Order: sequence, then structure tokens, then C-alpha cells
Amino acid sequence: MVSLTFYGGVDEIGGNKVLLEDDDARVFLDFGQSFTMGCDFFMGWLSPRASNGLGDYFEFGLLPKLKGLYAEEQLQFTNVPYVKPRFDAVFLSHPHFDHVSHIQFLDPEIPVYLGEGTKLFLEAMEKTSSFCNYKEHRYRTFRTGDRINVGNIVVEPVHVDHSIPAAYSFLIHTSEGTVVYTGDLRAHGPRKDMTEEFKDKACESEPVAMICEGTRMIEVERRKNYSEQQVKTLSDKVVSSTDKIVFVTRYSRDMDRFRSIYNVAKNNDRKIVVSPKTAHLLGRLVEDKRLDLPDPLKDKNILVYYKRKRSGDFEEKDYYVWERDFMEKMVTHEFVHKNQGKLVMDLNFYQFAELIDIKPMQGSHFIHSMSEPYSEEDIEDEVMHNWLNHFKIQFHQLHASGHLNRDQLIDLTNHIQPKKIFPIHTENQQLFKKNCKGIQTIESGKEYIL
Ligand SMILES: [Zn+2]
Repeated sequence: MVSLTFYGGVDEIGGNKVLLEDDDARVFLDFGQSFTMGCDFFMGWLSPRASNGLGDYFEFGLLPKLKGLYAEEQLQFTNVPYVKPRFDAVFLSHPHFDHVSHIQFLDPEIPVYLGEGTKLFLEAMEKTSSFCNYKEHRYRTFRTGDRINVGNIVVEPVHVDHSIPAAYSFLIHTSEGTVVYTGDLRAHGPRKDMTEEFKDKACESEPVAMICEGTRMIEVERRKNYSEQQVKTLSDKVVSSTDKIVFVTRYSRDMDRFRSIYNVAKNNDRKIVVSPKTAHLLGRLVEDKRLDLPDPLKDKNILVYYKRKRSGDFEEKDYYVWERDFMEKMVTHEFVHKNQGKLVMDLNFYQFAELIDIKPMQGSHFIHSMSEPYSEEDIEDEVMHNWLNHFKIQFHQLHASGHLNRDQLIDLTNHIQPKKIFPIHTENQQLFKKNCKGIQTIESGKEYIL
């Protein structure tokens, strides 16, 4: 008997936690944190206390009380007794927060399977973010083409195109047939061929079920979405038509976007200025040759921006040990100010105070290469525009989504033709029902037998 239980990603975008059971094999597909988790009870600095382990999460039902899943230390202050692991493995589809973050609570004895690139991302994040600690695990890395046996099931990872490298879908071969888990995916990025490959493989497996993401299963798209190639072309237009500095803000781990902006800068004889954090991430990702990313230490087109810290004199001791690796590539606000027309600079919202020191010329440019705000009352968006207006910087919205749109999702389900479809990672299960055959809508914590 094969069953599926959804502990996250139900009626919301992200937070996937799917339990698949087949006889004595029990595996989780992703173990992420919801973007809105606990927002009825926690906000800003009022957050679950790490010192109380899972106690604060169980209080509000934010994580399922399953025996044999969590680490002993996490259960210390709860009424759930610790028992040896009753789960065989957790498979991570890709390194985004909403798919991996809650592995920090898992029993370290439970193996965590993940792509080799995903492991590099997790390590880089732990090193450079004080709030990131995934804890110890028995990590096992995989690549496309591997077949992983867990009890009587076989899990086959298949790479897909998404807004972060090392993204996979899974074909899970069970006693009742193949279950497809899409993970998150798109078909308009530079590696759309990988998504095509996945579609064909999934179709050939004649699946009994598909757990399908539906981020963009929406009636009307209000936000403008380009393909990655269009983002590159339009960014090039901005950069090539000005002699002033161009700032870019993007998702820090979207390496397709980094590559696009890097190439735009290079094609326009400009250097790209990145943060030490991005330099560190690049330094780790060059270990994976297939990602084909530039080495921040060797590549002459990359400069690393150091903010003034502590002494204010850019001394080595002012910076974290991991930040010091790139000091030979250091540029400061003075350099950026003097060389504005020769640079494209990564600048995220939380670094905007640097503009005070950089003193950009009037009429400089800012490319917002991220999603548009969800609501018109987005405070961060308002503050961002206040800053841009203050410095008389021109705003450009250029972004490519990490997800299939509605028509592509319908096309995906028509192509693969699974007997049943479980919509996950979506706020619109009903629209799936309207548009696709074999939809089984899901409720949190309910078991579905295949
Ligand atoms: Zn996601």
C-alpha cells in the first residue's frame, strides 16, 4: 500500500513536506519552512525561541508531532518522547528556504539526500548567515541518472530548470507504480532543456500519481514576467544606454540571474561589483564545474565591495574570517564613486545605506530584478522607492520567474498524464481542478492512499 500525507505546502506557496509511505519505506520529499508559517503568532523580533527547540512550534501546531522524526535535543521541552528514527530518508529537491529550512529539527540519524550543488549552497549559507544552521546530518549527494534504493522504493532524481541551480524533480518507483514529484520548475530559463527532459522521463514512467507545484496556477497574472533571455537583453539596453552607474538587486542565490548581469556588464566593458557574501558563494559553486560560474578570485571582471565596519578603515580585523578571503579584490565606496560609469553593482535593499557614501550621480539606474510586490501596500517597496527618488535614480523592473505559468502547468499535466494529480505549493487548488484531469485536492495532515 502506498500513501501520501502532506504536512506542508497545502494551499500555500512553499513549505513543502510530503510523506510517502510504501510498506515499511517512509520518506519525506522536502522539509521546508512555509513563508507565512506562524505569522498569526510571530512577527519581526517575536520569533520561536531556538532554546525551546520544537516547543514553540508545537504550541501553535506549526510542525507535525510525529514520533521518530526529530532530534532528541529538539524534543527536550515538549511532551513528545524521543524514539529512534522511524523514517528512512528525506529527499531535498533544491536549496530554497521553503524546501529545506526545517531539516534543522530532524534526527541526525535520518539520511538527507540532496544534489551536490544543493550541499554547496547549504554550506555557503551556513557560513555567511548567522541565522542559518541546518545542524548535523548524514548527507548523501546525488546527480541525475542515480537511482537510490530506500527499502522497497527507488528514487530517481531528474534535474529541472528553476531559479536556483541544482534543482531536481523525483520519480519515485513504488509497489503501486511511479509517483512523480515535480519540485519547483520552469521552462523559460537557460536550462529549459532539463525541464523538457524531465517531462519526457516522467511521461515514459506512466505515473500513477504526480505531486505538482502550482505557484503560478492563477486566473490572471498581474505581474510582468520575462524569460531569462529577455531579462538579459533588456538589462543590456539599460546599461549600454548610460554612462552612469547601474545598480541591480536580485535574489542572492539565483545564479542564472547573476550570469545574465555578469555578462551584460562584461559586454559593456564594465566590471561587476558584488558583496563578500556573493563572492563566497561563487567561490564554493565553482567547485561544481557544470555550473560554469566565474571564480571571484581569478576573474578580472569581478570586484568585491567592502562596507565600512568597526574601525572604519577597512582593516582585515574588521571583517568575518570568511569575508577576508576576497580583500585583494576589495573596492570601497570611494572607488565606486569615482568609477561610476565603469561599474554594474549588486545592491540589495538592506544595503541601501551604502548609497549615502557612494553618492551616485543623478539619473543613475536601478534594475529591480526580483518579483514585483504582492500588494500595493508593500512597505518595503515604498521605502525602496523613497530612497531611489531621494537619489534621483531611475527604476527598472526586470524579472523572470522560477515557475511554470498556468498554461505551461496545464501542458505539463497533459503531457505526463498521471492518473492522479495532487496540487502542492499553490494557493489555487480549485483552478487546477478546473483546468486539469485527475485532480485530488489535498488537506494538511490527511493520508491519501494510491
Ligand atoms: Zn518553492
